[in-house]
Amino acid sequence: MQQIISLKGSLDEEQELGIKGIFPEECGLSAAVNIPFASEYAFKCASAQDHRGEKGVGIVSVRKSKFYIEKRRWSVILGLPGVNFKKDLPGKTAIVHNRYATEGDSDSPSNVQPLVFQETSKGSFVLAHNGTMNNVRSIKKDLMKKGVAFQSTTDSEIMAHLITHSNEDTIEKAIISALNQITAAYSLLILTPNKLFAIRDRFGIRPLSIGKLKSGFLVCSENYAFDQYPSSSYLREVEPGEIIVFEKNKDSFESIKYAEPDEHFCIFEGIYFSHPRTTYKEYYNEDFRQELGKQILIENPDLQGDFILPVLDSGKHAAIGLFKKSRIDYKEYFLRKHKTSGDPVSRSFTSATYQERKEVAFKKLHLRKDKIRGKSVVVVDDSIVRSTTMKIACERLRNAGASYITVCISAPPIVSICPNGMAYRTRKQLTAYNRTTEDVRKTIGADRLIYLSLKGLKDVVGKTYKCGICTGCFGGKYPVIPR
Ligand code: 5GP
Ligand code: MG
Repeated sequence: MQQIISLKGSLDEEQELGIKGIFPEECGLSAAVNIPFASEYAFKCASAQDHRGEKGVGIVSVRKSKFYIEKRRWSVILGLPGVNFKKDLPGKTAIVHNRYATEGDSDSPSNVQPLVFQETSKGSFVLAHNGTMNNVRSIKKDLMKKGVAFQSTTDSEIMAHLITHSNEDTIEKAIISALNQITAAYSLLILTPNKLFAIRDRFGIRPLSIGKLKSGFLVCSENYAFDQYPSSSYLREVEPGEIIVFEKNKDSFESIKYAEPDEHFCIFEGIYFSHPRTTYKEYYNEDFRQELGKQILIENPDLQGDFILPVLDSGKHAAIGLFKKSRIDYKEYFLRKHKTSGDPVSRSFTSATYQERKEVAFKKLHLRKDKIRGKSVVVVDDSIVRSTTMKIACERLRNAGASYITVCISAPPIVSICPNGMAYRTRKQLTAYNRTTEDVRKTIGADRLIYLSLKGLKDVVGKTYKCGICTGCFGGKYPVIPR
């Protein structure tokens, strides 16, 4: 059993643990299996998951044991101009990876997934990964000593070389041996000429769902993507510690339990990251978010204000929940500018400098200034990370004449990094790290700051998803400590 340890210590510890060196990846996976013109299906599902990654998109289809590959270093929403899906990406099975936009040096074309391995001792295969693999530094070093040359700097490639270096005689067994050497965090798609493997780590940190079409199956990080096809139906999630094996031309799939499940679902998927219309454990994320908003009032029955202002879009559902419970008026006076193709507006969180983030956050939030003068406002968002968004929101409200600003955050303070795939690389970046709520309140310029408590979050999970969660970034337990 993997030990459960909470990560507490100095900032130097992060460096020592190599956390900074591990590149975080929160990505989107899509597959279409045994469906004529699979590449079109898989790509449409990937487009529905553009919020999971806009820094790169790659697609691989397979026909008659040959892989057909297209990769771009841009958002999936820009599509693949000039590519004829039927001709250039033929076959009845295809997988797509969209890559998350994080800051840093991730732009190399070789990092765009899926990673393709044309000739190995286990045959040819293609791998796409969502999550960040922990504790892989020494594994990577060992592999390099054995002569492995890495084509990318992604942690995902380490898994691929563990597969090719396994002494097992079949790819199935080689995959299982590789999975057992890296505990987390991954949801994976591995495509071979005849099979597709859909895998979740035994903690179930990242989501992965199976859907059914009349002919064949879809597999996506988020089941919201299945709704691109009205005739599709959601079947179930890939379970923690499970491999689903799809075979060419077979209308059923096999399940292999390769590790003891110990669910630690990344609750930030529910709080913010996943699409509101995705379900987890058959519970809609948007309903979960509403419950978080209601919980804020349960914990703070004295909450008052003239109206509730969601920071759209991420604060919307918690704000609606808060409104339903409190009956304080709900007003969308902040309007969110939606991203358009290639518009840097989509990148406020991941822009490299504070100045850039501030400018983008400012452009993103338009305020009806005329409605604010003399009002006591309750601003609702899902999280404070580096506090760019909230500083801007409070400044704008103050300038517009708000008499009192209460900020409600539908998650506990983020006080620690995420080694499992979110973009919190060092604690130093986190406004709430080592600081009191009062310190954070002053930093953002609010009159009152309310965070949801960790207990409150767990209570809501207990009523909704009813699953085990990772609360490491909130100062709780990580399922696996990065080494
Ligand atoms: P801050 O502005 O405090 O740095 O970040 C908080 C805002 O960014 C919130 O509105 C939240 O919705 C969003 N956010 C939180 N975590 C992430 C993330 O991992 N990626 C992106 N793109 N946005 C995030
Ligand atoms: Mg937001």
